[in-house]
Amino acid sequence: MNARPPSKPSPPLNARPLLNRRLDGLGTTIFAEMSALATATGAINLGQGFPDTDGPEEIREAAVRALREGKGNQYPPGPGIPELRAAISDHQRRFYGLGFDPDTEVLVTAGATEAIAAAMLALLEPDDEVIAFEPFYDSYTACIAMAGAKRVPLTLRAPSFRPDLDELRARITPRTRLLLLNTPHNPTGMVLTAGEQSAIAALAVEHDLLVVTDEVYEHLVYEGTHHPIAALPGMRERTVTISSAGKTFSFTGWKVGWVTADGPLVSAVRTAKQYLTYVSAGPFQYAIAEALRLPDSYFDRFRADLGRKRDLLGDGLRAAGFEVYQPQGTYFITTDITPFGEKDAYAFCRALPERCGVVAIPNSVFYDDPDAGRSQVRFTFCKREDVLRDATARLRRLAG
Ligand code: PMP
Ligand code: GLN
Repeated sequence: MNARPPSKPSPPLNARPLLNRRLDGLGTTIFAEMSALATATGAINLGQGFPDTDGPEEIREAAVRALREGKGNQYPPGPGIPELRAAISDHQRRFYGLGFDPDTEVLVTAGATEAIAAAMLALLEPDDEVIAFEPFYDSYTACIAMAGAKRVPLTLRAPSFRPDLDELRARITPRTRLLLLNTPHNPTGMVLTAGEQSAIAALAVEHDLLVVTDEVYEHLVYEGTHHPIAALPGMRERTVTISSAGKTFSFTGWKVGWVTADGPLVSAVRTAKQYLTYVSAGPFQYAIAEALRLPDSYFDRFRADLGRKRDLLGDGLRAAGFEVYQPQGTYFITTDITPFGEKDAYAFCRALPERCGVVAIPNSVFYDDPDAGRSQVRFTFCKREDVLRDATARLRRLAG
């Protein structure tokens, strides 16, 4: 159809602000902002968490094969291809002894990001309260807001970042609908202990709360073990567990994530999900179905490799003068910049490329409390060793 000239001048835009009030103040994600800064300045990007080396070659080839064989090039089934749902179900049984029916209790999503959004949109009513760890991973804040609900912080404080369970109890009100957990925790690297999980589970049962647990770093635990809270008594029927292939297999761009939960919860999350993307990542779903069946040696080597990099970056940051909070999991290290006589993490990160050619993430943006994370800066170590060495050598210039 040809464009037609308007018969009369178009009316001025409605004077109402264009942005929905729930999105107001969310702005650009800090990860996008800092990656753009890295690109613009040519600095080493230890900000946004994405590996600089792709995952296993045979999994990359599996995606190519699927694409060439015409698998997944058209809309895959709404809940995900059966092969991937079966592989997710088998993964939960193999690593945690948890049984989920691949047909009714597993849902494939566009990364963990969509799983979080769909879970919040599906499970929350306006004015419900959601208790989540502060610092909040950025999409939690946004998704709780888009659902019209209210976030209630359970602040993790340096140096241990352990949750205060008495504080958690005190934060629960009649409006509390859901606990949003994240272990291993981004950005602090805190991993919940079995005792903490049990205490949190007992509170969830006592107050009849739903639990959404983001476990995308489940295979990156260096101290202790990953315990899915869904395995604890009374939790299966109230827990939505979220994970993603992005972290475990180093294919963050493929955006293959998933949800495992009791049937009614999966059905609720799926109702929201099908109107977000409907489906995604067709050929990649075939490849991740293979990835989830890689032998234990893959998972062991992956963790050992990242564990070495954690030590390399940690030592380098200490040598450069940062206060370093040792992470038990994830591929991030949180530091404090007070030893440099600085206290504004955001200003520090904005200036860092200019000062020494490195990009990092200011944790301050993940806090509501303006003081709690003010001087904390996060660095990722999911990069090649030579890159980490180069970055820490550059950071040593801060000392001089
Ligand atoms: N949750 C956490 C805690 C994360 O760090 C990330 C970033 N990878 C996500 C969710 C999003 O995962 P995905 O890339 O699979 O959407
Ligand atoms: N999860 C990644 C991080 O914490 C960022 C993902 C994103 O950019 N949304 O660095």
